[in-house]
Amino acid sequence: MTFDIRTMLMTMSLLTLLFSGLLILAGLHVGNARGVQQWALGSLYIGLGLCSAYIQQGPIYNTWLLVFAATLLAGGLGLQLNGIQVFKTGRYNKYIPWLLAGLMFIQNTWFVVIDPDIHARVIANSLLYALGNAACAQALFIRVEQPLRTAYWFTGMSFAIFATLLLTRAITVFNAQPDTYSLYSPAVFNTVSVFIGIMSEMCVTFGFVLMLNSRLAAELQKLALLDPLTGALNRRSLEQEADRLSARCTRTGDTMAVMMIDVDNFKSINDRYGHPVGDAVLIHLAEVAQKTIRRDDYFARYGGEEFCILLPSTSEKDAWILAERLRQTYADMMMKFNGKVLHSTISIGVSDSLHVGVEFTLLIAAADQAMYIAKQKGRNRVMLHSSCLG
Ligand code: GH3
Ligand code: MG
Ligand code: MG
Repeated sequence: MTFDIRTMLMTMSLLTLLFSGLLILAGLHVGNARGVQQWALGSLYIGLGLCSAYIQQGPIYNTWLLVFAATLLAGGLGLQLNGIQVFKTGRYNKYIPWLLAGLMFIQNTWFVVIDPDIHARVIANSLLYALGNAACAQALFIRVEQPLRTAYWFTGMSFAIFATLLLTRAITVFNAQPDTYSLYSPAVFNTVSVFIGIMSEMCVTFGFVLMLNSRLAAELQKLALLDPLTGALNRRSLEQEADRLSARCTRTGDTMAVMMIDVDNFKSINDRYGHPVGDAVLIHLAEVAQKTIRRDDYFARYGGEEFCILLPSTSEKDAWILAERLRQTYADMMMKFNGKVLHSTISIGVSDSLHVGVEFTLLIAAADQAMYIAKQKGRNRVMLHSSCLG
């Protein structure tokens, strides 16, 4: 089986143009698709650069067309790197595409037009592309949570393979016979280069789509599980965790505890300072609670100004210590909103599975009852459900 490099190059340019369209479509109806525009534009530049290189070797022979092709390819790679930066952080260095394209323009003008030297040109171009691809790979090999990590590393690996290929190409050409320098010479390393190039370009595009998909999946999951105001778990995910934990307690005989937390006189905070300040108080309470609880505990917004904490392997008495610490920490804090100093307290009811059983609805009802008694007794206190009964 033989590979015709021209056909392969044409295939690669058409594929890259199609990838550009695919990326545009992928980002079309996604409001927060950071980076996709840059990837689409980058692929478009690379596709056009490859087309120009193809035309330059075919129907039209113009040395400036070769310079133009190389410059477009480097600019496209720079845009892809910009896209990765935007995707990761929302910010990017806009000079990168210009820098890569500028360097490519200078070295190609020199080695193609001013002092023609195909040997030096191929080595210099391969090294600069290798550097650009390595920078893209380096930007992607970072520690992020799953499923994004798989997508990042897949794309990073595709860039890294392409960078290695280009570096190998530079070294091979450095040692090669003069008639094998040109990409169109049938030397094996040229065929292999173009083949791996096509594969890498495909994998990079699939990687971008995978990254976008993983980001959207993670955002959807977050929306489904978290309360948008406080970032605490929402009631749905709390109930899921509770079911899982109840089943475990039934199986192992372990104890679980529940805390119901309610802000004291919250209505009057809203009435006095306005709803936005009320919201800020809830955010503040969530922050304090999340700092106070242990790693294994689940903190959730149960509704309105009521929060719930699920405590695995914890008895009512141990939960009381934690609840008392949270109540005290919160009560000791002065909050400042728009220059106004505000003080607020919470009441907490605690129950556990030793006294009321492992069923979550019963645990919640018991903690709620204890919390109600804490309110009756003057607020800013912790009540155990078992002591309310006595
Ligand atoms: P108590 O000490 O007995 O708990 O009195 P309270 O005023 O805190 O109790 P109540 O249940 O009467 O008030 C709860 C208020 O919480 C009523 C509602 O307007 C307010 N609220 C519920 N959700 C939100 C929210 O997301 N933001 C704000 N700002 N207020 C909320
Ligand atoms: Mg309430
Ligand atoms: Mg309240």
